[in-house]
Amino acid sequence: MQTYGHWINGRSVAAEQHLPVINPSDGGVFARIARGTKTEIDAAVAAAQGALDGAWGRMSATERGRLLNKLAVLILRDAEALAQAESRDVGKPIRQARQDAVACARYFEFYGGSADKMHGDTIPYAEGMTVMTVWEPHGITGHIVPWNYPMQIVGRSVGAALAMGNACILKPAEDASLSSLMLAELAAEAGFPEGALNVVTGLGEEAGAALTSHKAISHLSFTGSPEVGTLVQTAAAKNTIPVTLELGGKSPQLVFQDADLDTAATTVMAGIIQNAGQTCSAGSRVLVQASVFDRFVGELAGRFDKLEAGPAERDMDLGPVVNADQQKRVNAFLDFAKGDGLNFAGQGRIASNAPEGGFYVRPTLLADVAATHRLAQEEVFGPVLTAIRFTDEAEALAIANGTQFGLVAGVWTADIGRAMRLSKAIKVGQVFVNNYGAGGGVELPFGGVKRSGHGREKGFAALAGFASLKTIAIKHG
Ligand code: NAD
Repeated sequence: MQTYGHWINGRSVAAEQHLPVINPSDGGVFARIARGTKTEIDAAVAAAQGALDGAWGRMSATERGRLLNKLAVLILRDAEALAQAESRDVGKPIRQARQDAVACARYFEFYGGSADKMHGDTIPYAEGMTVMTVWEPHGITGHIVPWNYPMQIVGRSVGAALAMGNACILKPAEDASLSSLMLAELAAEAGFPEGALNVVTGLGEEAGAALTSHKAISHLSFTGSPEVGTLVQTAAAKNTIPVTLELGGKSPQLVFQDADLDTAATTVMAGIIQNAGQTCSAGSRVLVQASVFDRFVGELAGRFDKLEAGPAERDMDLGPVVNADQQKRVNAFLDFAKGDGLNFAGQGRIASNAPEGGFYVRPTLLADVAATHRLAQEEVFGPVLTAIRFTDEAEALAIANGTQFGLVAGVWTADIGRAMRLSKAIKVGQVFVNNYGAGGGVELPFGGVKRSGHGREKGFAALAGFASLKTIAIKHG
């Protein structure tokens, strides 16, 4: 059984304590990762500071960009190994893990190209003065990543932070750390100076909390649950540092009677099934106009009935969910729905040969749910789709905005006026019209409003979050 150390100052660092790495497809332990504490966070901080004081801090933006591009090439070279590791670690069907590896490379490529394109301004000001602005790195940035899309989230957050010249400390989720360690090793091979990217694995309340409270950290980027996001923002406030939070969602897909219903059905399915629904931007509520509700939801129900969840390596419709807690959580929501008499309009099954110990759940479509019901309000983070009926645009908008979240929305209609009105009125960070990117698109700024978080990652917009703008005013007469 392989044992993984931390990655600090350009090398693997062995640990005294370990955590098991469990394969969600069968519940078996197949490796061990290091269980980090404040000691390793302190070591990573020292390494990161050394990088900023040394070769990394002196490097030009163009040179940083070249390193990021080299890393992208190495990720593509090792994409299959990364995908296999991620698939086994997360329980993600291998086809999806392969897409994640390619997307991860694309983030480093995109941010490699962006590194030397963040220009400051010159500002017309007083007579005899020249004023300019320059972007500077924050310094040491902390990155806390969840288990659902480790490679993609590391790519978008660490990629942008490195492009701007920060030295990064990454704390991956205890359930899925392997790809982060592999990426750090590839960064060393690409030629990143020691200490530019450090990975400390371990538990959130140990290694994670030590990172968020460390006085030397200048920025925190967190993706995960709203509960932990609140803790991270509180820790950041104590040190008065900026924080980017990407939290959960209950994202609506609004389907109007004039939409291309076939395409909408296919996309709505993909938006809740991908990664077994463990996607922050999963379209977990489908709002359907009453005139086409029975037809559309009947079509979805038929598709749900055919779904099968099975081992990640068999590449079925869905894999397992990530761990036993997540399985319990999803099943508790389904039990609650049953107890409350909700309509189980469609439900897939668990493959007959799925291993006993795996963390499988049944993909489920709940129909005609009241917009205020718990299953229409709370994030299940599993393959459970809630269908809600509406009569007109005003009601659809009220339902779409009627949760505490605001991450993504999909609007399905042939009426461009309606599409534009709703795109502006729905309170979310991303709207997709007649498509649903489910957070996809490296180039597209991504993030939430309300309890879904704040700050933007992905796209060019993310770079400003990982840098500080300095104004220089020169009086020269
Ligand atoms: P989580 O919040 O439990 O864990 C996320 C990360 O935070 C992990 O690395 C964990 O170790 C760390 N952590 C936990 N406690 C901590 C603490 N006290 N201090 C510092 N770090 C700590 O979330 P999860 O269970 O891994 O993921 C599920 C949730 O994440 C869902 O609610 C989902 O919506 C959300 N999520 C959001 C996005 C997004 O981009 N908006 C993406 C993925 C997941």
